[in-house]
Amino acid sequence: MSAPTKNVMVASCACGSVALEASGAPIASVVCYCNDCQKGSSQIEALPNARPVRDSDGGTAYIVYRKDRIKCAKGARLLKGYKIRENSVTNRVVAACCNSAMFLSFDDAKHWVDVYSLRVKGDIPPVQMRVCAKFKPDPGHVPSDAPVYSGYPLKLLAKLVAAKIAMQLHR
Ligand SMILES: [Zn+2]
Ligand SMILES: [Zn+2]
Repeated sequence: MSAPTKNVMVASCACGSVALEASGAPIASVVCYCNDCQKGSSQIEALPNARPVRDSDGGTAYIVYRKDRIKCAKGARLLKGYKIRENSVTNRVVAACCNSAMFLSFDDAKHWVDVYSLRVKGDIPPVQMRVCAKFKPDPGHVPSDAPVYSGYPLKLLAKLVAAKIAMQLHR
């Protein structure tokens, strides 16, 4: 008999047909202001019945999980990926039932998945860093809840590398 799974995060689309489940602690909780995230989020916001994907200041909030710790628990057939450029490796995956932005995945070997924080049920981990702030539409107004970085900070890259090592060691 297996023990109940601890520390499970559930993210679901607005209508409830699609659910993601992630286990264990996330790698990071970030808000990104880069041009690609702004473009990708606005592309999804333009779909019929879509809800806001960005925060009011133009940032998109993500909870970053290891790829091997997240699964689609419900409604996988409804997932649909969008790319902002034809040759991009990044897929912004939407629940087609209600056009909710669910997560970002990558066609290359990246070992993580970015779940849109707005879709996470229950307690959302507090924002740890605000990244790529140099692309922010209104640079004068950055929330002061977390450190702000103009690009991708070493701290985030270090967390991603540590997660990859742990994953390779099957921890
Ligand atoms: Zn839905
Ligand atoms: Zn970004």
